Amino acid sequence: MAIERTFSIIKPDATKRNLTGKIISKFEDAGLRIVASKRIQMTKAQAEGFYAVHKERPFYGDLCSFMTSGPVVVQVLEGEDGIAKNREVMGATNPADAAAGTIRAEFAESIEANSVHGSDAPETAAEEIKFFFTDDELVG
Ligand code: GDP
Repeated sequence: MAIERTFSIIKPDATKRNLTGKIISKFEDAGLRIVASKRIQMTKAQAEGFYAVHKERPFYGDLCSFMTSGPVVVQVLEGEDGIAKNREVMGATNPADAAAGTIRAEFAESIEANSVHGSDAPETAAEEIKFFFTDDELVG
């Protein structure tokens, strides 16, 4: 195992319900450190670019609308085996399948409004971090 950085988003359904702190506690309790964080209103162009990999999926338009429907918190998390650890803390995409105690099991409203995003591999983590942060915004 190695120390890895991964990209995280606290999605609009969670910011709307004032759950930012509770979600951040889950990351910190799991040993993940927040090395960059900002609350932003994502533009349509940013959402479409960020989720371009899902362009052909039937839910792409709805997903981009949802991600621009309110503020989000974009973050870089760091920790031992950070990419997998973050996915573990998040839980399965569909909250109905998410393990007890995970963020999505506790907080998600639906398969779309599922409270958090997390990178799924080292390559996507690096790309996604670059999409929202410059190097000098990662402050350890
Ligand atoms: P993730 O890596 O667990 O976030 O899941 P995916 O990469 O497969 O999907 C990206 C995001 O698209 C998810 O987090 C959901 O917000 C949304 N999504 C995934 N599957 C569906 C679906 O079947 N319907 C809708 N409406 N949204 C979905």
